[in-house]
Amino acid sequence: MKEITMIGAGLVGSLMSIFLGRRGYKVDVFEKLPDIRKESISAGRSINLALANRGIRPMQQVGIMDKVENLLIPMTGRMLHDIDGNLQYQAYGQKDEEVIYSVSRGGLVSLLRDAAEATGNVTFHFKQSLHSVDYKSNTITLENTVDKTHKQHLFEILLGADGAPSNVRKSFEENGIKGVSFDLLTHSYKELIIPASQSDDFLIEKNALHIWPRGEYMLIALPNLDASFTVTLFLPNEGELSFESLTSKESVRQLFDTKFQDAAALIPDLADMFFANPTGMLGTIRCQQWNYKNALLIGDAAHAVVPFHGQGMNCGFEDCSELNSLLDKYNGDWGKVMTVYTEARKDNANAIADMALENYIEMRDSVRDPKFHLKKAIAFELEKQFPSWFIPRYSMVMFHHIPYAQAKSRGTVQSQILAQLSENIEDVKDLDISFAEKLIKQTLTVLPAEYLQ
Ligand SMILES: Cc1cc2nc3c(=O)[nH]c(=O)nc-3n(C[C@H](O)[C@H](O)[C@H](O)COP(=O)(O)OP(=O)(O)OC[C@H]3O[C@@H](n4cnc5c(N)ncnc54)[C@H](O)[C@@H]3O)c2cc1C
Repeated sequence: MKEITMIGAGLVGSLMSIFLGRRGYKVDVFEKLPDIRKESISAGRSINLALANRGIRPMQQVGIMDKVENLLIPMTGRMLHDIDGNLQYQAYGQKDEEVIYSVSRGGLVSLLRDAAEATGNVTFHFKQSLHSVDYKSNTITLENTVDKTHKQHLFEILLGADGAPSNVRKSFEENGIKGVSFDLLTHSYKELIIPASQSDDFLIEKNALHIWPRGEYMLIALPNLDASFTVTLFLPNEGELSFESLTSKESVRQLFDTKFQDAAALIPDLADMFFANPTGMLGTIRCQQWNYKNALLIGDAAHAVVPFHGQGMNCGFEDCSELNSLLDKYNGDWGKVMTVYTEARKDNANAIADMALENYIEMRDSVRDPKFHLKKAIAFELEKQFPSWFIPRYSMVMFHHIPYAQAKSRGTVQSQILAQLSENIEDVKDLDISFAEKLIKQTLTVLPAEYLQ
């Protein structure tokens, strides 16, 4: 039986260990943090996340979706809050099943770890931080984060699921692997909470992802099972209105009272919470090479993306499923699997990284433009009329399994089609459908049947 050594028991490492445990591998997972199931620790960045189809399918494959469902709150669309507190709802999709889900990071990771242990083949070792990797002797050195002692561990296969700051990826670079880029966003984020009402109800619409788009910056909120909302402020790091400029409680209150008035009224101790909570950085990591010798990167370690398409975890879960299929296909030949996996995933990861950056502009700015809503309505109409030709890009990413790179390239063509079709009309009912058909059939190809599921 092959033994797998995994670094990182975050969302992706924990899910991958279920796949591997079920295949009969003996898996040792080393995680630098304490176990959130036993010690009360912060779940780290983003208390809750948006889960979409790409993330759901891998969990169905390992048979845990019935349990995960208990953690989910469906979000059927965006609820836009304008500066005067007026609301505008925009559905994400047009079929009943086209929804995304808010899920607690701590709840999900705990469930994944339980399921991994239940395979009988996975052992988690907490408070063990990867210090270094020696590829000559196939040995890793781990530091006990409590007593700072070091110990060594031999590996056959090493999987780096250790997130954006990955030490496994650093070990590749130390061995001469080039082509890693890290682009820090010039905006950061801060999490706040809208608590439940006194009668334990949601204070704003439960089944929506709330957005307060303000051009250069925005506030969003996702629902939690306890009827609270996790609110995230995204703001430039520097400049007139920025994290740097918010130096006093008064300045924070003034920002919320003038720009996010309806939200401000729902967040008690707003300014205290603002200064008590950390400011999180955001960035994109791209790697030319995801494998080196008998080591492989998965999840954010290989491809951290900014959170504006809600796809970082979903993409990492898709990594797990893809890796598992390749292990089937190549009968557990890890040498072959690692190379093919890297080639299969790299362009897709780069594509979602690009789309996530673009989506920041959409969320904080474009959604305020009436033309944006017209294009969205036209896109839905085109999907209805030509379902195997045209699927809105958001839907391709969130509700289908169309490879990200194809979603991106088709999305670029579709955006030109939408620009042309919306140019001289103000309502979707004035859409020239025969012109639309001509444009679509000239510039797009039919989607393969498997992408339409
Ligand atoms: C604000 C924000 C909102 C987000 N929202 C969404 C969303 O809505 N939907 C979505 O799909 N994605 C979202 N993401 C992205 C998502 O959080 C990541 O893609 C996901 O957490 C990646 O999982 P991972 O397991 O690869 O990495 P991580 O979650 O970072 O886990 C890595 C694990 O490795 C451990 N580790 C690190 N270094 C070492 C070491 N040296 N030794 C041992 N262990 C180590 C860490 O402690 C951690 O437990 C969001 C991210 C942010 C920042």
